[in-house]
Amino acid sequence: MKTLYFRIVVTFILIAMVSSVLALFLSNWYYLTKLRDQNEEQIWKITTEIRSLYEEMPNVEPATYFTHIANMGFQLYVVNDQMAGTFYGTPYKHTQFDPEQIQRVLAGETYRGMLQERHVLMVIGYFENSLRNSIGVPVQVQGKTYALFVRPNLEQQIGGVRVLMAFLLGLTFLFSIVLIIIFSQFIVKPVKRLREATRRIVGGSYEMTMDVSRQDEIGELARDFTYMAQSLKQVEAMRQEFVGNVSHEIQSPLTSIQGFAQSILDQTTSEEEKERYLHIILDESKRLSSLSKQLLTLASLDKESHVVKRTMYRLDEQIRQILIHTEWQWSEKALDIELDLPETDVSADHQLMHQVWLNLITNGIKYARPHDALHIAIQSSEMEVTVVVSDTGIGMSESELPHIFTRFYKADRSRNRASTGTGLGLSIVQKIIELHGGSIHVQSELGKGTTFTVHLPRM
Ligand code: ADP
Repeated sequence: MKTLYFRIVVTFILIAMVSSVLALFLSNWYYLTKLRDQNEEQIWKITTEIRSLYEEMPNVEPATYFTHIANMGFQLYVVNDQMAGTFYGTPYKHTQFDPEQIQRVLAGETYRGMLQERHVLMVIGYFENSLRNSIGVPVQVQGKTYALFVRPNLEQQIGGVRVLMAFLLGLTFLFSIVLIIIFSQFIVKPVKRLREATRRIVGGSYEMTMDVSRQDEIGELARDFTYMAQSLKQVEAMRQEFVGNVSHEIQSPLTSIQGFAQSILDQTTSEEEKERYLHIILDESKRLSSLSKQLLTLASLDKESHVVKRTMYRLDEQIRQILIHTEWQWSEKALDIELDLPETDVSADHQLMHQVWLNLITNGIKYARPHDALHIAIQSSEMEVTVVVSDTGIGMSESELPHIFTRFYKADRSRNRASTGTGLGLSIVQKIIELHGGSIHVQSELGKGTTFTVHLPRM
């Protein structure tokens, strides 16, 4: 496996190499456009200077004169009209040269070899120690014409600078590699820690200590990661609680079904008792069935992909229908039903909203005392439709209110006789209303009654 560390180091080395090549090409371009002509001009001037100086003192022995000039840092090649040449100073490395060029210089022309392109990279060509890379002029020495070729002895003139430059570049490159090898570890270390933390989460452990103080992307990642681990821990705790609640809700009716079935099988149980037990068994199995339906509904509503199938329908009629279906429940308690249901059209999921009103109305009936009142009203404005379901039943204490929308929450059972609930009804109601972009609020006073207000935005 190629580690991140390995990749960073290799990438850096590649970057350094590519940069060097690019820098070389750019320098070449700069040399070509700016420096080459200047350079050549300077050497051209020096060459003519060498010639004029000599022509002013023709009595000096040519060999002596040229040797002195060469000692000042030049490479010379002097050719007489017989084509016999002498080198002065450090000899040229490459001496191959077209004799025709010499002839031309002897005939009075000048040779400007430095301007003739021979290298793709002219910067390197500038250092080429060759006779072709020189400047040639004719010189009159004691009545004879000589061809004088001059080139600065770069080795001698800037040899030290070249070594220094090479040192500088080489050491920069070397130190960069050493430092990148050391410091890449600091980049890679937190990533390694994150990987270890991920593995621990997969293994079910959510506790971790990470450096969240760094003010960069890695620090941000560590902070987000810690936050994610905490959320996962919460989700896991909720899941465990949920499974515990579900098991409990299933276990208690099953235990009672088993107990009563056993009693029915018992020879000593009277016929009336048997019938009573069978009714209890029937009730408990209905409760189990409603629990599983509610769980399925919640699971489906929890899915992110859940679609609300909106249609336009009459809300007042939907509520009236529910009151007709629940008549036996509220008439049994002799409840006083007050309705204020003006004709109202809404765009919502008919089936889901049916569940909302059914839950709120059956709760109102369930938690009402005989002869209490149940009031249902629709108010509509341009922006929203408001439905109020209000009862004068047993109500709830202030401490219970914040929990009633929590899954499986059931208020103190000893207070109310109706213990058939699952504690899921209101969480389903809230979820459905949220899916419709609306909100639900509750007001309640112990012993006086409860009011649920649902706001549904008009679409
Ligand atoms: P349940 O199935 O137990 O009724 P819900 O989620 O519908 O579950 O309600 C949660 C709790 O809120 C109930 O246990 C009950 O204590 C309380 N509650 C809901 N509606 C009313 C109401 N209209 N009056 C009094 N208490 C209510």
